[in-house]
Amino acid sequence: MTESATRYIFITGGVVSSLGKGLAMASLGSLLESRGLRVKLRKLDPYLNVDPGTMNPIQHGECFVTDDGAETDLDLGHYERFTSVRTRRQDSVTSGQIYAKVLMQERRGDYLGKTVQVVPHVTGEIKNCIMEDEGEVDVVLCELGGTVGDIEGLPFLEATRQLRNELGRERTMFIHTTLVPYIAAAGELKTKPTQHSVRELLSLGIQADMLLCRVGEGWERSLREKISLFCNVPEARVIGARDVGTIYGAPMMYHEAGVDREVVNFFGLETEPPNMRRWSEVMSRIENPEGSVKVCIVGKYTELQDAYKSLDEALSHGGIAHKVKVEKVWLDSGLVSQGMSDDEIWDLLEGSQGVVIPGGFGASGIEGKIRMACYARERKVPFFGICLGMQVAVVDYARRCAGLERANSSEFGGGEFDAVVALMEEWMDGGCMQERDGSEDKGGTMRLGSYACDLLEGSRVRKIYNKDRISERHRHRYEVNGLYMDLLSRRGMIFSGKSPDGRLAEIVEIEDHPWFLGVQFHPELRSRPFSPHPLFADFIGTLKDGERLL
Ligand code: GLN
Repeated sequence: MTESATRYIFITGGVVSSLGKGLAMASLGSLLESRGLRVKLRKLDPYLNVDPGTMNPIQHGECFVTDDGAETDLDLGHYERFTSVRTRRQDSVTSGQIYAKVLMQERRGDYLGKTVQVVPHVTGEIKNCIMEDEGEVDVVLCELGGTVGDIEGLPFLEATRQLRNELGRERTMFIHTTLVPYIAAAGELKTKPTQHSVRELLSLGIQADMLLCRVGEGWERSLREKISLFCNVPEARVIGARDVGTIYGAPMMYHEAGVDREVVNFFGLETEPPNMRRWSEVMSRIENPEGSVKVCIVGKYTELQDAYKSLDEALSHGGIAHKVKVEKVWLDSGLVSQGMSDDEIWDLLEGSQGVVIPGGFGASGIEGKIRMACYARERKVPFFGICLGMQVAVVDYARRCAGLERANSSEFGGGEFDAVVALMEEWMDGGCMQERDGSEDKGGTMRLGSYACDLLEGSRVRKIYNKDRISERHRHRYEVNGLYMDLLSRRGMIFSGKSPDGRLAEIVEIEDHPWFLGVQFHPELRSRPFSPHPLFADFIGTLKDGERLL
């Protein structure tokens, strides 16, 4: 084995879901990076959807978009926020993709008449995906979605078992996350679920090499000894994973528990000493805020904050940039209506100093969002519209400031209306409308991934980014209708960011307002705690410095 051969770490979950496997893996990725290793982080999901783009965010959390335009699981967002890695399409693998590929190959006759089976054909494809970038990095970390024992997860576990056999112990490591619950009646932490879960994994031919045991108070040596004895894992690799107040405390917690040291020892890797400066700086800013600001997020999926995970985090990063705590008021846009008075809206905002309207799909709550954009514009409340949020700001502006009373987006409008936001094919090149019929694929019909955007000299965004060209990630079907751009600009809307060919509006702003921006892209996907996105940092900075405007 050469020093340059890529190592593979597989992270599985046992006992229950929601043990923070994704966070554990993101933290480990960051710790390995802090030792100078090059890493890649990959998610293997057992569900049959080809990508999470078609899944309801209320059930599954947000859909994270990569630079190369893949719609992926929200865990990839954690991977990016914790490390300097930019994930790519091949870092999100689902059973659906694997089966689609195997079946396509079968139809094409690639298997030359053989019986096509889960082992070796499906497992073979899984192994190809895992090893896609062999040799490019030092360590590939793979998170296996679901919990050990799920039927769907079996082919993935089997593929990793085969890889251990093929690559050897020197290049593969199994980390299993479990729960050590506290049973109040006995006054004790219990190790039995961990024992069972490790045994379940063993019955599939996989011996865990390290255990991350989620545990509350009372984790002590004797428990480690017991788990080590029953589970066949050396004591130093039985890690007590305490709850942390903020997710950004996880890397430090795992580091102090010895996780990265044990991993590099396991592989016999010589590394630089770990440099934890980045995380201690982030933690000291989070733990010692010099004040707080309050932001209201007006959205559709407010009952599950995971549906806006990256936004939630990016707003907090803006707080980290300015040493303030960001309190969030999640307001269901369905509760806001066109007929509401300013006073009624003021009540709903609960003292928020700024308003964010995030991305979204579908008509429900849309008039409430338009009303909110109007309120923020007229009452000079700092306003940040993202994707759909920008589109509603444009609709409001067209209705109230450009005399187009019936303006709407063609995603929502009915009857006669001015489609100031529309599908590109409805207005570009003379508007040769392509009908989409019901039989078409619902996945992948959007503008997805990173696109360049030129910033207007003298604009607010140009100052914030301090650049004339930026690149940001998109996920939407509709665009500001180019046929209305002239009229809207004449009435004062500033198109301060456009696609390099000048045809697509990417950013809008208005004058005489403390902070009013709409962006067609999703800046929240690029923000990190140790390098907050400039738009979020500037927005939160404005709230911090501004007097209470409401
Ligand atoms: N529904 C809008 C569109 O498809 C906005 C999408 C979004 O906010 N991500 O264009």
